[in-house]
Amino acid sequence: MRFETKAIHAGQPPDPSTGAKITPIYQTSTYVVEAPGKDKGYVYSRTSNPTRTALEKNLAAMENGRYGLGFGSGMAAINAVMNLLSSGDHVLCNDDVYGGTHRLFTQLYENYGLRFDFVDATDTENIEKNLKENTRLILIETPSNPLLKIIDIQKVARIVHKHNLLLVVDNTFATPYLQQPLNLGADIIVHSTTKYLSGHSDIIGGGIVVSDQRLYDRLSFFHNAVGAVPGPMDCWLVLRGTKTLALRMERHCENATKIAQYLKNHPKVAKVYYPGLPFHPQHELAMKQMKGFGGMVSVELRGGMKSAERFIRSTRFFALAESLGGVESLICHPATMTHSSIPREERLKAGFKDELIRLSVGVENIEDLIEDLENGFRRI
Ligand SMILES: *Cc1c(COP(=O)(O)O)cnc(C)c1O
Repeated sequence: MRFETKAIHAGQPPDPSTGAKITPIYQTSTYVVEAPGKDKGYVYSRTSNPTRTALEKNLAAMENGRYGLGFGSGMAAINAVMNLLSSGDHVLCNDDVYGGTHRLFTQLYENYGLRFDFVDATDTENIEKNLKENTRLILIETPSNPLLKIIDIQKVARIVHKHNLLLVVDNTFATPYLQQPLNLGADIIVHSTTKYLSGHSDIIGGGIVVSDQRLYDRLSFFHNAVGAVPGPMDCWLVLRGTKTLALRMERHCENATKIAQYLKNHPKVAKVYYPGLPFHPQHELAMKQMKGFGGMVSVELRGGMKSAERFIRSTRFFALAESLGGVESLICHPATMTHSSIPREERLKAGFKDELIRLSVGVENIEDLIEDLENGFRRI
């Protein structure tokens, strides 16, 4: 089966009890068993639920992995991965990681004796150089958030495996339609299904995909023991979303490319970040590693923070909101919104300025989107 077909069919045979074409929302906490130990595969919905099973199989199939796990949020999925570690372990991470991930690591797990370093992983030597005796795991996001840097997954995987470590890739921005990290050597994929996978800004959810059975067994144990699981209705909404993932991503990529080109020629723009632009520092790598360049575009305006503040309040279709990956366009100011939990000096060191704006380019008509941005520019 090829991607588009898997996205629609994987994990979703007709419902065994009724033949329903679409996997039902099994809104139940428990399951009647014939006798103790004699069940139909389901006992209690924290442990497993048929709607969630359908989603887990669907996620695994799209990522070319063997096992999937559904979570109540992307952060819950990342937290489950962290449960693999023990006090004293060290983790390396790219330097412009999602703000919530940075917060979980530095404000929560450091209290449990774990140690973190954030490095510019576009130069894989920085990973090699910062490995320690106690390093256990490398987590990377590519494209990264918000600077859309591209990290060479295959190269990082080679380093990671030479040292017997685990490579975790947050594939939220790329989606499995554009990039399949397990095929490139990653051990664990994490997702915020809140974003492109559900695609309609109507749920919070997360997922993990792995191929190694031992890893799956451990993560699955944490999944059940901690219980950060999604409800069946949310799983159903993600399943509805993944059916059109390929179509949506095509349009997200097309619209984002046109917007990046429009911005790059605009006199009020200082810098555009989009891996599809030929002058993006990792453009060649993006072409090799990804099937398309995604729907996220970041931009630095001329005129500093003031311009940025006016601009983000002047657009109409680009609504001022956190999050990304829905069919509707969003605009956000990372320094005060998504990444405000990262200290300013650290942000500046990682290369993102106060006047940086992040666009989640939706699938609306491109002329309307460009007119909307043009209106914003007129007000600064
Ligand atoms: C949103 C996001 C997360 C966190 O996911 P939630 O569903 O909000 O918990 C993690 N990583 C990336 C790249 C994200 O964009």
